Amino acid sequence: MPSLTFLGAARTVTGSKYLLEVDGHRILIDCGLFQGLKELRLRNWSPLPIPPETIDAVVLTHAHIDHSGWLPRLAGQGFHGPIYCTGGTADLCKLVLPDAAHLQEEDARFANLRGFSKHSPALPLYTEEDAAKALSLLKPQPFNKTISIVNGIDIQFINAGHLLGSSYVFLRRSDMSGARILFGGDLGRYARPILPDPSPGLDADVLLVESTYGDRLHPPEDDGETLARIIKETIARRGKVIIPAFAIGRVEELLYWIFRLEGQGRLEKLPIYVDSPMALKGIEYYNTRTDELDKEIIAMRNKLPRFTSINSAKDSKALVENDTPAVIIASSGMATGGRVVHHLFAGLPDPRNTVLFVGFQAAGTRGRQLQDGAQYVKIFGQHVPVHARIEKLEGMSSHADSGEIIRWLRTFPRAPKTTYLVHGEVVAQDALKVRITKELGWNVEIPNHGQKVDLPM
Ligand SMILES: [Zn+2]
Repeated sequence: MPSLTFLGAARTVTGSKYLLEVDGHRILIDCGLFQGLKELRLRNWSPLPIPPETIDAVVLTHAHIDHSGWLPRLAGQGFHGPIYCTGGTADLCKLVLPDAAHLQEEDARFANLRGFSKHSPALPLYTEEDAAKALSLLKPQPFNKTISIVNGIDIQFINAGHLLGSSYVFLRRSDMSGARILFGGDLGRYARPILPDPSPGLDADVLLVESTYGDRLHPPEDDGETLARIIKETIARRGKVIIPAFAIGRVEELLYWIFRLEGQGRLEKLPIYVDSPMALKGIEYYNTRTDELDKEIIAMRNKLPRFTSINSAKDSKALVENDTPAVIIASSGMATGGRVVHHLFAGLPDPRNTVLFVGFQAAGTRGRQLQDGAQYVKIFGQHVPVHARIEKLEGMSSHADSGEIIRWLRTFPRAPKTTYLVHGEVVAQDALKVRITKELGWNVEIPNHGQKVDLPM
């Protein structure tokens, strides 16, 4: 009997990994890193229930690290099959995987230097060499084309509107017998700049859908008003606006809004720094694939020269020490690593500054601690007092909210036999399950970590 095992993103938002076993094949859909709480991060070190070399193929929905960031570990542990994804996903993986490996190596080195690891010596989860190995296995594919991934199994990538290259994966037998499965990946939003609307649902028997914001509605579109207010107030205090941002996707949207506000005369022209070589490269990739994006990207493209790129670590350090009011966008988005940590280390004790969160902050991350009103946060083994103002812009999320998820589910030609809620924390999932059951009458399940279910294939 074909089966599906939930190896990640089950009752949590990270670590997406689903093992499909069908007709003697093993296919892994997504291969994400667990992030956040220590209990979750420790799962990154646990072996899969099966040897990696017995997996025939990996299929990747998109390049976000919680969907792709375990690939170097998988490759390092002996997986050598093809990794199917879209061209945009392959591009972005070239950025995020070596960067993730670099962070892993850096963390291990730093822990050894400061001696704050319980392990001696602290080892990285994977190396840049493992990341290179994973990248060499990528097999980029166009959207909407039927691709045979193993003998007798076909897939199609459908644009999910969540990130450049982001997709749902529609999987079925080549002879059309048995169940059709739609792996929803992460679901984008309707009527947003930069990215297209999520593509409509398909005729599927089994559906996996994300539930990150399953219990919430994003605030109604305010045409950049909140962003303008936060920046203006901070500049009036002669402070800096420090924006921890996912290097890809979010940065493009932020810049779009800032330029739009400037263009409309609602914001004075300020120094804007993008302090992330990866984000800068990401902007280039977005620019080469405008045909996969929303029409409005063209408007942003024309204004791209209006920010300062910070490439070198030396320039980044100088920017940290610079006291001039400015907007600084730096990764990582949950402030768990990357250059933004240095900006926070220096900037949090200063009440003139603002730290502006524009994305979901997972439990256990420094970003969540700040958002929850922590008086101190631990950075580089030190307790750093939080005097800066902490703000958030929830409307910037690239994840559908509960209303948008329901809107998307209504585009399906019929109810799937089973809909599995994945990629969400339990409270959000329970709320979404109630909504889907009540409003659509669908059969909804919330799988547990490690749970294996039979598929009607
Ligand atoms: Zn994502």
